Amino acid sequence: MTLDDDVRDELRELDATHLLRTPRVVDGAQGPTLTLDGEVVVNLASNDYLGLASDRRLAAAAAAAIEQHGLGSAASRLITGNHRAHVDLESRVSEWMRCDGVRLFNTGYAANVGVLTALLRAGDIVYSDELNHASIIDGCRLSRAEIVVFPHRDAAALDAALSRGGGRRRVVISESLFSMDGDLANVAALSAVCRRHDAALILDEAHAIGSMGPEGRGIAAAAGVVPAVVIGTFGKALGTFGAFAATTRAIAELLWNRARPFVFSTALPPSIPAATLAAIEIVRGSEGDDRRRTLEAHARRFRQLVPAAGGASVSSIAPILIRDDRAVMRLTARLLESKLFVLGIRPPTVAFGTARLRVSLSAAHTIQQVETAAETINNAMRHSV
Ligand code: PMP
Repeated sequence: MTLDDDVRDELRELDATHLLRTPRVVDGAQGPTLTLDGEVVVNLASNDYLGLASDRRLAAAAAAAIEQHGLGSAASRLITGNHRAHVDLESRVSEWMRCDGVRLFNTGYAANVGVLTALLRAGDIVYSDELNHASIIDGCRLSRAEIVVFPHRDAAALDAALSRGGGRRRVVISESLFSMDGDLANVAALSAVCRRHDAALILDEAHAIGSMGPEGRGIAAAAGVVPAVVIGTFGKALGTFGAFAATTRAIAELLWNRARPFVFSTALPPSIPAATLAAIEIVRGSEGDDRRRTLEAHARRFRQLVPAAGGASVSSIAPILIRDDRAVMRLTARLLESKLFVLGIRPPTVAFGTARLRVSLSAAHTIQQVETAAETINNAMRHSV
């Protein structure tokens, strides 16, 4: 059997078990409505929480940077790719996040893998929430540290695990706003447990940066907690692309040296940090506050109307647990017929038997769009049982 034959068998099996993924094509810009495979639909699937992805100001900042500096960055930042825009963005993020060291990454995925593999090696222990994102899981595995998975949001179980001792370095890693569950880590409790056991806390705030906390600084900032490292992404609420690790001066310096996705990968094109600088100004200011308030109001209203929706009441991510993979795919197809794009989430993104609809709200939605979507979803679920 050739490799191609073998792969075709694998694809057939994915299809037969309702786990085959196929992309849809977007024409035009991101927004509360999308042209998806040629049809205009209400978009409840993206991570554009503040509605900035197609903001003209960000596009103008990127266009001006391209005009001045061209498009490509031509090498990693350690070679010739370290443009002024990268350095300026790192210092702006450190001022915004109130920390001494910041390192940019090309994606949040690269940030998690880069930070974890730079800080950990064999002989260390990493304690990881059981619902952490794939990029965290991959970073833990690649680091070769021992991995201890603790039950979701369970600070007492983490405390017990840390009490068992061991490990040269001990690092706890958790998302702050969980991407598929829409619930929040208890960062104050995690931080207290870490302090008690001399462990370092790494918090992945990919979904919270921009959309939650004072000036959009995330959930740790809202709780007055200072983790050893905060991972943030620019591709979600900030509306651009890339990611950062906000940390101490020493850790940021180590990342120059040891974070392989950083060292061995071409730098972001300078137009992207230029656009992100513009995004941070919006997110930090009163316009950001207004957008966060609208987003929170949408999150509360949606949950009021859809009792099956989970996640924290204030969270932009509202999962609706369906469990069965096929039922989820049938529901998403029915919703699409009603011009509503909601993502069906199946394994391996979530555990087997926990397939769900993931409703993602944005400040760019109108309240009418939120209310109509809630009614459409309730109707579709009523007809599916
Ligand atoms: N962390 C979490 C919790 C995420 O949900 C994601 C993206 N879905 C990432 C990291 C990766 O971020 P990026 O898309 O920038 O690679």
